[in-house]
Amino acid sequence: MSIKAPKGTKDILPEEIENWHFIQKTAEDVFLKSNFKEIRTPIIEETDLFERGVGDTTDIVNKEMYTFTKSNRSLTLRPENTAGVVRAYLEHNMYRESPPVKLWYFGPMFRYERPQAGRQRQFHQIGVEMFGVQDASADAECILLASEFLKGLGLNDLTVEINSLGCDKCRGEYKEQLKKAIAPFLDKLCDDCKSRYEKNPLRILDCKNETCTKLFEEHDLKNSLSGVKLCDECAIHYKNLKEYLNALNINYVENTFLVRGLDYYTKTVFEIKSNSLGSQNAVCGGGRYDGLLETLGGPKTPAVGWAMGVERLNSLISVKKVDLIDFFIVSNNPTETLKLAVKLREHGFKVEFDYNFRKFAKQLEKASKTAKYAIILGEDEIKGGYYTVKNLAVSSQEKLSFDEVLNIKK
Ligand code: ATP
Ligand code: MG
Repeated sequence: MSIKAPKGTKDILPEEIENWHFIQKTAEDVFLKSNFKEIRTPIIEETDLFERGVGDTTDIVNKEMYTFTKSNRSLTLRPENTAGVVRAYLEHNMYRESPPVKLWYFGPMFRYERPQAGRQRQFHQIGVEMFGVQDASADAECILLASEFLKGLGLNDLTVEINSLGCDKCRGEYKEQLKKAIAPFLDKLCDDCKSRYEKNPLRILDCKNETCTKLFEEHDLKNSLSGVKLCDECAIHYKNLKEYLNALNINYVENTFLVRGLDYYTKTVFEIKSNSLGSQNAVCGGGRYDGLLETLGGPKTPAVGWAMGVERLNSLISVKKVDLIDFFIVSNNPTETLKLAVKLREHGFKVEFDYNFRKFAKQLEKASKTAKYAIILGEDEIKGGYYTVKNLAVSSQEKLSFDEVLNIKK
């Protein structure tokens, strides 16, 4: 039997790669303007990093991690990259730099989830993290960055949802209110929600199980809850964020039920949803995580960031065509062809030729499908020291010197 790619993984084929390059290039351009620097961290990390960093009551840590043991060390394929970036930030003492430290990343993540449209087991995220700023201006900067990036990709049918989860102080009361509201139908909720009920009740609101979401509707859960009642400090922070977003003309809706799947968030959380994706409609998720650095053994450091699913972005942008190359050399002289190819490539042109040097008609046929120009290099041309250049778009041809060939606009 032939071997297939593992379930939940996908090949990215040459005809799709232009879109990936476009996304990467747009990210680089947008992030550079705000002085965010790229970081690349390992795909494997010590399991403990995620258990402590992502939180051991999360779905990710409880059932979605690819974990294995080597030489008695437990290692995990990263399911997300905030924990890894924080680890690197601490390991390299970046907190000694004057804040803020602003980083971005792009790479594969691994989660053992049920594969479906918009959900894979190996998928890619682009994300940013900003360390050292307590003021809501950092939250606004991150949301602005996400919105500029999405604009750069030509995406606009999107909704930014924001909420504040406050700090531990503010959440206590809300957790109790939520538990009380859920108690009457707790036994009908999924097993995950049952265990969240004691360990981390807020995350019940993030459940994607249809039975649970229907029950929430039936019991009008959302209307019976007030949202987190923020302490003064958190309330001011949230008010400032909204002011900054208003000043930036970033449209947002407040969703008091927005919680995130990870344990580490404090104050601001946000999601950006596409109005043209099906049920996996979140393209971006993020928020503030002021407690995480301490949890991972570092100094107390405020931080905020987000991650976007690249496959989901990809399914929203129109397919870019692979560009035509500049020249296809049509010849039956391998040595002269190779030499000409090298010379043209040195001048920055994309050049191809037929490695089998078949009949000219066949070569021209291939040229017309892949290139803007065919350079015919037959015996006459070699003897005469000129090139016959055919413009394949209009089928005109002329005899040119090498310098004239170089002057052809790419
Ligand atoms: P979801 O609610 O869709 O499960 P999440 O809350 O688990 O998302 P995060 O961990 O915040 O997501 O990741 C940020 C983004 O990464 C998501 O908004 C989504 O676009 C993307 N993403 C997350 N998990 C997957 C997956 N299994 N396959 C593809 N993309 C994913
Ligand atoms: Mg998820």
